[in-house]
Amino acid sequence: MSNKPYKLLSGNWLSSLLQKEIKQEVENLKDKAGRAPGLGVILVGENPASKSYVARKTRVAEEKCGFYTKDHFLLASATHEDVEKAIEDLNNDEKIDGILLQLPLPHQLFAYKLIDKINPDKDADGLHPLNQGLLLRGEADLIPCTPQGIMSMIDLAYSKYVSKQDGVNFSDIPKADLSGVNAVVIGRSILVGKPVSTLLLGRNATVTQVHSKTKNIEEVCSNADIVVAAVGVPEIVKESWIKKDAVVIDVGINKTKEGKLVGDVDFESVCQKAFAITPVPGGVGPMTVAMLMKNTLEAYKKKVCS
Ligand code: NAP
Repeated sequence: MSNKPYKLLSGNWLSSLLQKEIKQEVENLKDKAGRAPGLGVILVGENPASKSYVARKTRVAEEKCGFYTKDHFLLASATHEDVEKAIEDLNNDEKIDGILLQLPLPHQLFAYKLIDKINPDKDADGLHPLNQGLLLRGEADLIPCTPQGIMSMIDLAYSKYVSKQDGVNFSDIPKADLSGVNAVVIGRSILVGKPVSTLLLGRNATVTQVHSKTKNIEEVCSNADIVVAAVGVPEIVKESWIKKDAVVIDVGINKTKEGKLVGDVDFESVCQKAFAITPVPGGVGPMTVAMLMKNTLEAYKKKVCS
C-alpha cells in the first residue's frame, strides 16, 4: 500500500459553493423579476429513501437557494391520471420553473409515460425526450442532474483547487479539457450512464461504456484515466480494477445488510491507488441536489430574463 495522499472530491463542499452562487443570483434577480424561482416536487408513495431525498431537495431549495417550493404528495396507489393531474398543475403554475418527479415510481406507473407530460421548459431533471435529444446534439440547457454533478467532480479533480479550500467560488473551477483521456463508464441507464458518457464525449474524452453483459470489465477499467461507477452493486469496483492515479467517481448508493451506506467502489482499497476519488455519502449525492437547483434557476432565468 502506498502512502500517497489522494484528492478527496467532497460533494458536500462543492455543492455548498454552487448553492451559494445560486442564492446570490436569486437575490440579484428576484426584485426585478417580481418573484423567486419555484421548484415543484411530486412524490408518489412512501418509499423512505425517496421521502428523505424529497425532504432534502425541498430544504436545499428553500433554505440554501431562496427558492419557492410546491409539493404534491400522492398515495402509493395513485393512477396515471392522478400523477398527470399533479404534473398539469405544476406545468400551468406561473410560479413554478422546475418540476421534479421523484423516481422510482410505484410498480403500476410508467415513468417515461409521465416524464413525457412534463413541460420540457420546466424539466428540472433533464429527462424529457426533447432535452435528452438536445443533449445528444450538445445543445441542452437542462441536463440530467447526476451526470452534471459528476462532470463538476471531474473538473474539481483536474483543477488546482482542493476540497474545503477557503476563498473558492464554484465558477472559479475551470471546465476540464479531457482530450486524450480514457474514461470508462460502468452502467448505461438513462438517468446516469448514458448522459454522463455523452457529456464526457463532449469534453473530448475517449469513452468506453460497460454494463452487465460486458466481458472483462476489470481489464477495461484498469486502462482508464477516469472511472465512473453507476452500477448499484455494493463495492463492486476493487483496487485491482483501477489504474494508478486514476480519477474515480462513485455514483452508487447502496445499503449493506448492517444498514451502512456504501457506494459501488471499495473506497478503502481504491483510494490507495486513485489520484482523486468521491466519498459515499457526501460525494455525487449532494451534487445531484445542487444541479437540480441549477437547472431550476436556468429555467427561471430563461423565463424572467428574456
Ligand atoms: P440502473 O438503472 O439500475 O443501472 C445500473 C447499470 O449498471 C445498468 O446499466 C446495468 O447493466 C449495470 N450493471 C448492473 N450490474 C452490473 C455488473 N455486475 N457489472 C457491470 N454492470 C452492471 O441504476 P442507475 O439509476 O444508473 O443508478 C446506479 C447507482 O447509482 C444506484 O446505486 C443508484 O442508487 C445510484 N444513483 C445515485 C445518484 C446520486 O445522486 N448519487 C443518482 C442516481 C443513481 P444492464 O444495463 O446490462 O442491466
